[in-house]
Amino acid sequence: MSTLRIKLPLSVEIVVAMSDADTALGHLQGLGMVITDPSLLIGPYLRREALSSSRIEGTQASLSELGNHTWSHPDLRALSTQGIQDQLQRNEDFIQATYGVSAKPFYRPPFGYVNAHVRSAAAAIGYTAPTLWYGSLSDSSALTSDQVAGFGDQWFGAGRIVIAHANHPGVIGAMQHLVDLIAQRGLRTVTLRDVFATSV
Ligand SMILES: [Zn+2]
Repeated sequence: MSTLRIKLPLSVEIVVAMSDADTALGHLQGLGMVITDPSLLIGPYLRREALSSSRIEGTQASLSELGNHTWSHPDLRALSTQGIQDQLQRNEDFIQATYGVSAKPFYRPPFGYVNAHVRSAAAAIGYTAPTLWYGSLSDSSALTSDQVAGFGDQWFGAGRIVIAHANHPGVIGAMQHLVDLIAQRGLRTVTLRDVFATSV
């Protein structure tokens, strides 16, 4: 994947469009104060925005490829069957309400902790594919850009799932290196369904 750099000249049209956008945002803010459940209004826009920005980035993501990482990130092994299902179902409901799609069958058990008890409780509500990983950018804690880039060097490779978080600013400075790395190593990003599609 090559990176496209576009210099955007601030023409009169763009300035006017930005001003219109500002005004529209003002209207929306006013509306937000009078409607009782703003998420009903915003959900469809979140979905559309996410789809169009993924198109801009040239990635293959679509909103049919979300996975479930539980509601509050517990060690699922310590929970009852009901507790495991509540964790997955509450997040499933959120994803459905916000993005209009289901995350099934993919879930990532927090910390990668999974056993037969977790698998069967999850499978009973349609989560049949616990999804683990090969490497990590380790960016759930605050790392420098060089450290994040270094984990890319270490883990990016064909057929590997590498997890990342985007929780801290160091990730931003590493992004160009990571994109270049994908190109240099002849890799391409894929979705879980591209690779792990089942009849489920
Ligand atoms: Zn996690």
